[in-house]
Amino acid sequence: MADRVLVTLDAEVRDAEAPLLYADDIGALRGDGIFETVLLRGGSACALELHLARLARSAAALELPAPDLDAWRFAVEVAADAWGGDREGVLRMICTRGRDGAHPSGPAGKGDLAGPQPDTTGYVLVTPVPERVAAARADGISVITLARGLSDQVADTAPWLLLGAKTLSYATNMAALRFAARMGADDAIFTSTEHRVLEGPRSSVVIQRGKTLITPPARSGVLPGITQRALFAEAERAGWDCRYESFFTADLITADSIWLLSSVTLAARVNRLDGLRYSLPESAAEIPALVDRGIAREWSVTDW
Ligand code: PLP
Repeated sequence: MADRVLVTLDAEVRDAEAPLLYADDIGALRGDGIFETVLLRGGSACALELHLARLARSAAALELPAPDLDAWRFAVEVAADAWGGDREGVLRMICTRGRDGAHPSGPAGKGDLAGPQPDTTGYVLVTPVPERVAAARADGISVITLARGLSDQVADTAPWLLLGAKTLSYATNMAALRFAARMGADDAIFTSTEHRVLEGPRSSVVIQRGKTLITPPARSGVLPGITQRALFAEAERAGWDCRYESFFTADLITADSIWLLSSVTLAARVNRLDGLRYSLPESAAEIPALVDRGIAREWSVTDW
């Protein structure tokens, strides 16, 4: 069984152990590009249409050409088939601005990475689900709150920060995770300068109080989460009250439960926050099953 699968946007399966990018790819030079991370389960890409819709939204935010969604769908299908349905996988769709100097319209230096779109670099990579994921799903995670150093009011006034777009510039998110690890935690929750809760470096935050679920709204500069969206859709169907509302760090402490939601880990319950222990209340026990059902739904790009 292959341990990684690589498919370029022209749907060609490549040798995943061979180099792929040109040295002057702007994605490598500047982290200038977008991506999606999708869970492969049972041989298919969960909530793919929502991921495609968000890819298109991120492309618009970065003023990249609109992605050819049919080409992406096909490349994902080829990659999912090559991976197989026996085990879960992490499928990444990666799209960079292409080669330095080849943008915006010059034919120079397209190389063989160009799919239907002449300028951007696009590929799909599948890798195994990291080992930490099983434990996070089963036992939850310990989390610390970390200041992001930004107001939750800047998303509209400073659109160049690209808050809410899923860009390849994740170095600061990874640094936050390393910092959390040094503090003995598994993950982090970013807070704004107003002490409002934002998101994790790679997850959405949802709090639960009784039959109510609350997540910070996109206008506060968080990435709209697909797993959170899937949870809310299923939870509403099951009679929960689901809200997009700003809340403070102090509200985490009084919540019945806190969840970090993301496409690969899915629902990770916070079992320790800044050293404070949280047990799983009976009232939250169905949340992981709601997420599982939500991501397995038939979604369409227009649901975004
Ligand atoms: N917020 C950030 C910053 C993320 O990187 C991610 C996922 O990687 C999420 C939220 C959760 O999004 P999703 O559920 O679509 O994976």
